[in-house]
Amino acid sequence: MAKVLKVCDCGSTSFAEVGQSFCSGTLKWYLSFRCNNCGKTNEVDGVDIPPELRNAIIDQEGVWGLFINNSENSMSVIFSTLRKELNLSLAEIASIRKKVPGVILTGTKIEMERLREILSSTNMPISVVKLEDKTC
Ligand SMILES: [Zn+2]
Repeated sequence: MAKVLKVCDCGSTSFAEVGQSFCSGTLKWYLSFRCNNCGKTNEVDGVDIPPELRNAIIDQEGVWGLFINNSENSMSVIFSTLRKELNLSLAEIASIRKKVPGVILTGTKIEMERLREILSSTNMPISVVKLEDKTC
């Protein structure tokens, strides 16, 4: 969970908590705000996370990667699943393929964990790793 500053209607500024979750493969985000001054609360959630909130999560929780080991088996299943799930072009899939074995995609921790769960049916050795550099 990351924290972002929000200005309340009363004019004072408090921290809101922002995070992501996934359920049945669907990625969601939420924001939970409570004003320290007037006590007003605000809960927001949705599917498409606003870029500034995603950036706050990346800043505070780091960049995470989806690591795939090399294997001849079920590679095409993985890439066809990723292509459908992320709406990737064939060119994008081709460049991702070149990164195997290694980190093929980066994003927030929850985004990568969601992909790992979606790909778990392929029985491939897939792990979610924290990256040192902010590469996305
Ligand atoms: Zn307030």
